Amino acid sequence: MACPTCHGTTRTEISPGYWRCDSKITIEREGPGFQRPGSGPPVLYDTRVCGQRYVEASTTPANLGLCRCNTGAIGYCSECQRPVCGSHSGLWDAQRLCDEHYEVKFEAKVAADARAEWERQRAFYAHWNAERKAAEEKEAAEIAVETQARRQVREVLDELCRRGNRGSTRYKIYKAGSRHLIDH
Ligand SMILES: [Zn+2]
Ligand SMILES: [Zn+2]
Ligand SMILES: [Zn+2]
Repeated sequence: MACPTCHGTTRTEISPGYWRCDSKITIEREGPGFQRPGSGPPVLYDTRVCGQRYVEASTTPANLGLCRCNTGAIGYCSECQRPVCGSHSGLWDAQRLCDEHYEVKFEAKVAADARAEWERQRAFYAHWNAERKAAEEKEAAEIAVETQARRQVREVLDELCRRGNRGSTRYKIYKAGSRHLIDH
């Protein structure tokens, strides 16, 4: 049977025969455009969990014992075998766990996710650093070649001057292996 309020079928059994509706329902409310047309949508939609509690016959045996909150249990924790109600337990990988053991699993997962994220970021920055370093080294090597070329050209011109050939004071430097003019 569906929820008597919203007819949703997503639900949690809190206690044998006692259910909480977990279905999402959409609520309409007045938007800004309702009073002043053109200023926004006339109707806004909010989503919330229904939360309606209702009674319905259950196949869960009613004699599983009591949860620590004195509610009839719907099952046992897979880790500590304590009887638990639906409010103080949850399903983890299709295994019912009391809220304490559920918390342990949840925190382990949060920690594992955080570790994975940290590893991912570290790998990203390592890659980024390596690329930046390679680019810097390449640029430094190019500058060194350029500097060397300028020095050699000046040496040749100075030598020509010394030998009395004033030659041209203008010269051009091309990037090695290309027609790209660096300077002149
Ligand atoms: Zn409902
Ligand atoms: Zn309980
Ligand atoms: Zn437990």
